[in-house]
Amino acid sequence: MNDKLIVNVDKVKQVNTAAVYGMIDQLGPISRVKVAEQSQLAPASVTKITRQLLATGLIKEVAQQASTGGRRAISLMTEQSHYYFISVRLGRGTMDISLFDLSGISHAHSNLGVPEVEQDALVNTLLNNIDSFIQQHLEASQNLIAVAVTLSGLVNPGEGTVVYTPHYQLRDCPLASLIEARFSLPAYVGNDTRAMALAEHYFGATKDVLDSILISVHSGTGAGIIVNGQVFMSQNRDVGEIGHIQVDPLGDKCQCGNVGCLETIVSNTAIVERLKTLISQGCPSILQGDFSIEDVCAAANQGDMLCHQVLHRVGKMLGNSIAITINLFHPQKIILAGEIMAAQNILLPTIKQCIEHQALSSFAEDLPIEAAHFQNNPTMGGLALVKRALLNGSLLIRLINEKAQQIEQ
Ligand SMILES: [Zn+2]
Repeated sequence: MNDKLIVNVDKVKQVNTAAVYGMIDQLGPISRVKVAEQSQLAPASVTKITRQLLATGLIKEVAQQASTGGRRAISLMTEQSHYYFISVRLGRGTMDISLFDLSGISHAHSNLGVPEVEQDALVNTLLNNIDSFIQQHLEASQNLIAVAVTLSGLVNPGEGTVVYTPHYQLRDCPLASLIEARFSLPAYVGNDTRAMALAEHYFGATKDVLDSILISVHSGTGAGIIVNGQVFMSQNRDVGEIGHIQVDPLGDKCQCGNVGCLETIVSNTAIVERLKTLISQGCPSILQGDFSIEDVCAAANQGDMLCHQVLHRVGKMLGNSIAITINLFHPQKIILAGEIMAAQNILLPTIKQCIEHQALSSFAEDLPIEAAHFQNNPTMGGLALVKRALLNGSLLIRLINEKAQQIEQ
């Protein structure tokens, strides 16, 4: 057999295993007969694949009373609580670590400071923190199947490489390989906004649609575009840098090097800085001294005109850029995440008004624009990366092969 044929056989095995697992995950409890019918795979293939999935503990058999009465039929369901994985979100100067089971229940969580910015020191801290977290939760460590890391910046998710991140000096860092080498576990690395968009699709506000866009506003502005249930990408490279659409040619310098990008106006820091400048120039506001984005939203909700006007401008700028993405992608739903959503009563009407006037009317008609479901769950992104690896079959095959090796030994 030549190499190409072997690769294709492996690929077919992965695709078929993924199809069977995905069907059991989505429709279970479901019988083998129904899986074969719906997947159009030969019953013998379904039997073989389900035997392998049962051996790894990824699915389980359950007895179900047939609707017609009589003998209890055996159905299949995914096993959600047997395996665990670690999900890490690397934020600005901080990291969140969660221990999840496959149903998405978090069994432990930890938030740690990350003072390092230089690549080697940062990677060391990251690996050591994961290591201590695993040591603290030894009961789950026997059944750990993956580590996922999400962070802001540009990532090559196929290779698990961090190309660039704004808060740390990571450049072309092979983070997934470094994690795999240390823990002997499959590792997945992704952009946090893109991963959160996928989390919303699997578990949250966009479960009901296949095409959606998540706009995330934190220390920058990013978008995660889901097309046909998958993160929209170009040849494994990130897309969705909505924060760097120029909205003001005479605006402030952006960290990307250009001028007047959306995120020079629409980010938590930009909003707070703008208000501080206006207040120092004598504009009246109930806010004084030092304040946060949460204070700005609270003040705006209490009727502070200055905060209201600044957020109204933010809504307009966001709306302009979202209208462009609607024309380009014709999504079924737009969702927004970030601390500014505390002022969604001010932002959403402004955004909707922009879209009404600037997006194609047939694209914008009846388009839901709402708050994201996960507003303060930073490690949900990693959960989505592991779920994707299960659904596309790559992690399933790895677990099946590991089990087969254990049995041989
Ligand atoms: Zn920029």
